[in-house]
Amino acid sequence: GQKVVLITGCSSGIGLRIAVLLAKDEKKRYHVIATMRDLKKKDKLVETAGDAYGKTLMLLPLDVCSDESVKQCINSVKDRHIDILINNAGVGLLGPVESISMEDMKRVFETNFFGVVRMIKEVMPDMKKRRAGHIVVMSSVMGLQGVVFNDVYTASKFAMEGFCESMAVQLLKFNIHLSMIEPGPVHTEFETKMMEDVAKMEYPGADADTVRYFKDVYLPSSKDIFEAMGQTPEDIAKCTKKVIESRNPRFRNLTNSLYTPIVAMKYADETGGLSVNTFYNLLFNFGPLMHITMSILKCLTCSCLRRRTISPN
Ligand code: NAD
Repeated sequence: GQKVVLITGCSSGIGLRIAVLLAKDEKKRYHVIATMRDLKKKDKLVETAGDAYGKTLMLLPLDVCSDESVKQCINSVKDRHIDILINNAGVGLLGPVESISMEDMKRVFETNFFGVVRMIKEVMPDMKKRRAGHIVVMSSVMGLQGVVFNDVYTASKFAMEGFCESMAVQLLKFNIHLSMIEPGPVHTEFETKMMEDVAKMEYPGADADTVRYFKDVYLPSSKDIFEAMGQTPEDIAKCTKKVIESRNPRFRNLTNSLYTPIVAMKYADETGGLSVNTFYNLLFNFGPLMHITMSILKCLTCSCLRRRTISPN
């Protein structure tokens, strides 16, 4: 029969593309429940889904930050039966820590970390009873490696990686698979929203040097990196489909081979010095010469630092 897939955060970006790709599966293997906070934002999804809407794809409201909303949503699914849960909803946060309020930081954790915990807590007991299920979490390369000026976002993804790495062990005993997807940069509204937030920022509490490093050194190189290495949300959707269709799904799934040296570096030097110094040099010594940085990264990718990724093709 059809597998029931519930996805969070489907009004845009990666979530929208996963929902559409699965709903348009040629063999119609999936019944997709695409959820979003605000159903008023459904138009793009409905339009992209075309014929699949109302057949293999249906919509439900769900805010991952609300106990009530999560409960109501799962209760409205037939028999509460979900075969595959895809935790995609997430928010970014960029900038010098001094100028970010504690409240904004907590909001990131409320969505990226507690949002996922809330979903897993609600769906897992039924999966356990059935001794079947697959939980997928949209993590990031930043769930594995810290990135300057992404401190809090990175921490929220690390928190989730730790939670899931721990959960994976007992879930396996119940025949439930857990998989992390770890994309590098992806061209979505995520990037746009963050840049808009940054433009509005006034950096209270941050000194002039810090603001300069952020605005004049980090931001331009981050833009170059997005342009040179970014994947499309369709790429990430294809990777995700591969992961859920795999007989023996892997726990970690990097999607972009250009980013595997970052992870390899981390495990190559357990003191952390190699990672910290490499990022320091990339930012402060090569940052203004982005083309050099790119060629170094591409060389690294061709060397022994290459690791397995899940490719969209
Ligand atoms: P996006 O902003 O287009 O999508 C995120 C979605 O989550 C939006 O539709 C948003 O409305 C939704 N959302 C936010 N808070 C929510 C809540 N409380 N309840 C329900 N939905 C909520 O960005 P995206 O790039 O498609 O991001 C999807 C996931 O991919 C995120 O978890 C993000 O951290 C991760 N990711 C993105 C990138 C990137 O470069 N874009 C890279 C790695 C990982």
